[in-house]
Amino acid sequence: MEKVLSAKKKSKELDRNPSIYSYQLHELENWLVENGEKKFRGKQIYDWLYTKRVTSFEDMSNLSKELRDKLAAHFVLTTLETAVQQTSSDGTMKFLFELHDGYTIETVLMRHEYGNSICVTTQVGCRIGCTFCASTLGGLKRNLEAGEIVAQVVKVQKALDEQGERVSHVVIMGIGEPFDNYDHMLGFLKIINSDEGLNIGARHITVSTSGIIPKIYDFADENMQINFAISLHSANTETRSRLMPINRAYKLPDLMEAVRYYVDKTGRRISFEYGLFGGVNDQVEHAEELAKLVKGIKCHINLIPVNYVPERDYVRTPREQIFAFERVLKDRGVNVTIRREQGHDIDAACGQLRAKERQEETR
Ligand code: SAH
Repeated sequence: MEKVLSAKKKSKELDRNPSIYSYQLHELENWLVENGEKKFRGKQIYDWLYTKRVTSFEDMSNLSKELRDKLAAHFVLTTLETAVQQTSSDGTMKFLFELHDGYTIETVLMRHEYGNSICVTTQVGCRIGCTFCASTLGGLKRNLEAGEIVAQVVKVQKALDEQGERVSHVVIMGIGEPFDNYDHMLGFLKIINSDEGLNIGARHITVSTSGIIPKIYDFADENMQINFAISLHSANTETRSRLMPINRAYKLPDLMEAVRYYVDKTGRRISFEYGLFGGVNDQVEHAEELAKLVKGIKCHINLIPVNYVPERDYVRTPREQIFAFERVLKDRGVNVTIRREQGHDIDAACGQLRAKERQEETR
């Protein structure tokens, strides 16, 4: 395990130039033309950012000095500082990155047979308040800019470059609620998906929401071929509200209506994440309730054995009971899998590393 602590001082100001990674190619081209430059420079800049992956405007050697200075005066080229980097025995890598204002975010790289998958953060903290989650412990500090999400992928890709490997899959399941930072999340998706950007296929990208209903409709209307997951965790209104207070504002029946709209509109299957919390939502009757709720919906259920969070007192469901839960669903014709766990030895569950650092800081 490697641990590098950065010494950068914290400064909390947010007003500054935008990250150049926040710009889709056509937006960058527009900016160039508006600023008296040639449109084709946009592709050259994209090549420096996403193929050559330079870390300063100075290195963009086929641009004039004048243009490089202009870029530096209008944008920041977001280079995240690695505050902590850990590698698990199963190859999972976890990064704690420090932003320009001293806040920290987590990014995780998981190794699968099918490729390298990166889990990105969309907000500093989270305001959804799920009672089992570490990400929400200190509330929401701020949204990430699209470019700060893109920079996570670029940064991890640079680490993989040394091994001749590629980030092939992206899951937006790190800290934060992506649909609470919708525009930046969408910009991020478009940039990493574009041929000239990181060229990560839509089918290799997954976004997950706790259920911000109006944004589910917006997302359905985007009609992107991206995998979409909902954190469900209970098919029972009362239990879901207890686990996820957002269920009081965005109610389960309305959520399911939005889900049906999404599936109809896109023709795509939806995923439901269902964390098993010992004694709360993990009994056979809960599985029956769940099967009933998703009946007739083109979906897949991902069962997640609860990750222990020291600040939360949920307990794990015994293995046998997890299998019994899965069996009930299978018997009723529901597609279901149990999530394989990775990075157990490095606090790889959402928000755990950051929560730990925060605790150490406040001590
Ligand atoms: N805010 C979004 C994206 C986070 S995805 C969302 O809620 O969907 C991370 C997933 O891990 C979510 O399904 C979340 O509910 C789940 N999760 C968070 N803490 C957990 C824990 N302690 N145990 C199991 N799953 C957890």
